[in-house]
Amino acid sequence: MIRSPVRIRWEALPYFLHHCIISSAFKLLLKLRIIYHFSIMIKANHHTHSSFCDGKAPLRSFVEEAIKQNFRILGFSGHAPVNIPNNFAIKTDELLDYCNEVNLLKKEYKDTIDIYLGLEADYIPTITTDFDVFRQTCNLDYIIGSVHLVVTNGAKKFWFIDGPDYNVYDEGLTTIFNGDIKSGVQAYFSQINEMIITQKPEVVGHLDKVKMHNNERYFSLSERWYEQQMEQSLEIIKANGSIVEVNTRGLYKKRCDDLFPGSRWLPVMHEMGIPVMINSDAHHPGDLLLEYDFALEQVKKAGYTEQYYFDGNGFSPSEI
Ligand SMILES: [Zn+2]
Ligand SMILES: [Zn+2]
Repeated sequence: MIRSPVRIRWEALPYFLHHCIISSAFKLLLKLRIIYHFSIMIKANHHTHSSFCDGKAPLRSFVEEAIKQNFRILGFSGHAPVNIPNNFAIKTDELLDYCNEVNLLKKEYKDTIDIYLGLEADYIPTITTDFDVFRQTCNLDYIIGSVHLVVTNGAKKFWFIDGPDYNVYDEGLTTIFNGDIKSGVQAYFSQINEMIITQKPEVVGHLDKVKMHNNERYFSLSERWYEQQMEQSLEIIKANGSIVEVNTRGLYKKRCDDLFPGSRWLPVMHEMGIPVMINSDAHHPGDLLLEYDFALEQVKKAGYTEQYYFDGNGFSPSEI
């Protein structure tokens, strides 16, 4: 059968044009809704290091950059003083200067941006100062609790699991744990667990950072014993009501190809009802939003529809 050629129905033209206008308008509205959606999402970073500790710029430069990038919240979290020789934490006699300076900036910029005073506090049993002492001395808004230095019973040396150099990680593992990665990683997680239970940090910092310099060399992240360590820590976090930060620093420093904690754990955390917040762990004003979009995508993919922000009194959720 021969089909009749398509005939142009001129009388339908006005309807066709009308349809085009309506559909473009609809598309535009959709676009605007997306723009609107992004504009209401709170821009924030609660994990920021200045030159009071190992950050690379004064507090004020972070504030200026955050304002430039339309942040609503900027939380400082200098490394709390640690009672052993180190080159990354705020010096004990400079702690109050740090707090005073953040508080002055808080007042000065109160109409433009919400600035909060926090610390990223290390936990090393019997060595570090109780988080409550920092809370009281500094009248802190919050503490991010992290483990960077791992100890084993009786040892006076520390396994430094962070920093740019994996040789330091390898050397510490050999000297302190006789190269036994399982013992080292278990000691790391048990320190994290003890920190959550005894110090009650509001936020748990870069939960699985111990994987960073392993880089699949000593063990695989899918080994059951390792997964059990993660599961156990998440149970403790859940029971204590801590927020887990989703930390992007490993990605933009190119030290790790995933977030801390790894994307694989986000759906598990969501299922357990563990609250999250995305942080860049900025050491330079230019770090403030690095890899934020990737983290947001992973968090949403895991099922989260909100993340937590400090609101002046405590942490509360807001839509993402
Ligand atoms: Zn840290
Ligand atoms: Zn940090």
